[in-house]
Amino acid sequence: MSKTILVINCGSSSIKYALVSERREDRIYGLAENLGSEHARIKGITVGGEALELNIPHADHQQALEVLLGRLANYHPEAIGHRVVHGGTLTKAELLTPEIIQQIKAATPLAPLHNPAHLVGIEATMRLFPDLPQVAVFDTAFHQTMPAHAYRYAVPKFLYTEHNVRRYGFHGTSHAYVSERGSELAGSFKQGGWLTAHLGNGSSTCAIWNGHSVDTSMGMTPLEGVVMGTRSGDVDPSLHSFIANNLGWDIYKIDRMLNSQSGLLGLSELSNDMRTLIEASEAGNEDATLAIEVFCYRLAKSLAGLSCGLASINGLIFTGGIGENSAYIREKTVSYLPHFGFNLDKNGNNTLKRGTEGRIDASTGPQIWVIPTDEEGRIAQETASVVEQAQQVQHTKMA
Ligand code: AMP
Repeated sequence: MSKTILVINCGSSSIKYALVSERREDRIYGLAENLGSEHARIKGITVGGEALELNIPHADHQQALEVLLGRLANYHPEAIGHRVVHGGTLTKAELLTPEIIQQIKAATPLAPLHNPAHLVGIEATMRLFPDLPQVAVFDTAFHQTMPAHAYRYAVPKFLYTEHNVRRYGFHGTSHAYVSERGSELAGSFKQGGWLTAHLGNGSSTCAIWNGHSVDTSMGMTPLEGVVMGTRSGDVDPSLHSFIANNLGWDIYKIDRMLNSQSGLLGLSELSNDMRTLIEASEAGNEDATLAIEVFCYRLAKSLAGLSCGLASINGLIFTGGIGENSAYIREKTVSYLPHFGFNLDKNGNNTLKRGTEGRIDASTGPQIWVIPTDEEGRIAQETASVVEQAQQVQHTKMA
């Protein structure tokens, strides 16, 4: 990728940005946060690793983007890549056109917290940079290769045919990046079967065969699957009616509870942050210990389940804030998977430096890797390739 690409990830009150060029060390990145409030500010890293902190009281998305883009214009980005959580049934990154924007809007009922925020960012950058090519890169796209038996729910068919109720999967850019990178380092680029565990505040697992996602733990929304910071992951669907009937809660309150008050936070009643829980557990907090145990057991169970999508397993890859940094969680998770022949190199696991990639198995059984994710890099790469393809089509038409 020789182009300089600006990557934008708009949330409801924040904007993550990164200016990605050839060398990862040259990356400029940061976060505009608390947008719409008096505490709105931009925090980031500029050229040469210098810290940037800028108060922009009461700035909204458009105003924050104006400030950001003003500062970054000197670097002449050649395109903008937007992270978009839900692309419905779109199977790949797309140049933003009125039709694609319409499809992102149409997918809003499936990602009501995310897609509207992305659209605000897209509309603002289109107003500010009308001449720059802009691309949407979808979290869901990588999983569009899942077979129907992995993406269909066992509910009446009309819910799928008339209302798009199916499993979509998320964290696609991360699973795609780490599986490609891991298989490359292992000398079998995009060959064979890999299991990936993206473990951050949101967590998901994925099974990848010959470079294609064949199953993943998240479903129609990012609530399904493994235990997360504040999300429950899988529960018995009858929990909803049980709580409604016995506690009198409405569906919105139940939904909020499952998304924002469950997971590690709900189990521990202490924190959604794994580091805090490990420290509390070491100090004797039994709820924190149980939360960690449930997290690792359910994670291993998810990986074992996903293995049904693979004819054989080359290896397992850990990524995300927890996966990259916690040797303890990696060890505990692998300890629940002995029947796959995983054999952790405990010393290698414990001594792997933060932020570095490395192999941590004892060279028997399937490989185990830690690969720091690079969602921004992957979004930039996909953006550059969509723009190049569009330019080639344009040249061919003119020739
Ligand atoms: P992310 O959403 O990918 O930024 O990951 C955030 C999660 O990573 C939080 O739960 C953090 O507590 C966790 N995390 C970061 N560093 C560590 C660490 N050294 N040990 C355990 N968890 C960590």
